Amino acid sequence: MTTKLQAIRGDITSLSVDAIVNAANSSLLGGGGVDGAIHRAAGPELLQECRALRGCDTGDAKITKGYRLPAKHVIHTVGPVWQGGDHNEAGLLASCYRQSLKLAINAGTRTIAFPCISTGVYGFPATPAARIAVETVQASVASDAELEKVIFCCFSEEDLKLYQQILDEPESLG
Ligand code: ADP
Repeated sequence: MTTKLQAIRGDITSLSVDAIVNAANSSLLGGGGVDGAIHRAAGPELLQECRALRGCDTGDAKITKGYRLPAKHVIHTVGPVWQGGDHNEAGLLASCYRQSLKLAINAGTRTIAFPCISTGVYGFPATPAARIAVETVQASVASDAELEKVIFCCFSEEDLKLYQQILDEPESLG
C-alpha cells in the first residue's frame, strides 16, 4: 500500500488523526503560533508531560499524548530559525520531518498531520520549506506499509496553493 499525501487548509488542532505535529521551540514549554493553539486545545496536562521531556534539539522530535485534542498523539519538533540559509536550515528542516515520521511510525500511527514548520515566526521562506516538506515525506514513507495518510495542514490559502502545486508535480525519479 502506498501512503497518500494530501494538502488541506485548516486548524491542525481540529483534526481527528492519530498524530499532529507541533512546530515547537526547544524548551517544549509552549509558545505562540501553532504551538500556542495546540497547548490551548490540549489542556494543561500536555504542558505537564512536556515539562518532563526536558526540551528538544533543533531538527529532533519528541512524542506525547494528545489529551483533550481529537488527535491521539502530539509530535513536538523544533524547526530551525531562518538565518539566511547558510546555517544548515534546509538540513535541519528535513530532519524535523524525518524524525517526526520515525516517531509516528514507531507509535503505530496511520494518519499524521504536519503544519508548515518554521515558516511562521521562525521565518523560513514558504516555497523552499514546502518543497523540503513534500520531498522529505515522499522519501521517508516510500517503503512504509503502515502509514496511510500524511496531511499537510496549511493555515493560509497561499500555503495551500503552494503545497497543491508541489504535490501535483511528478515525483522526481532521481
Ligand atoms: P515556527 O516558529 O516554527 O515558525 P509558527 O507557529 O510561528 O511556527 O508557524 C508555523 C506555521 O503554522 C505557520 O504557517 C502558521 O501560519 C501556522 N499555524 C498557526 N496556527 C496554526 C493552526 N492552528 N493550525 C495549523 N497551522 C497553524
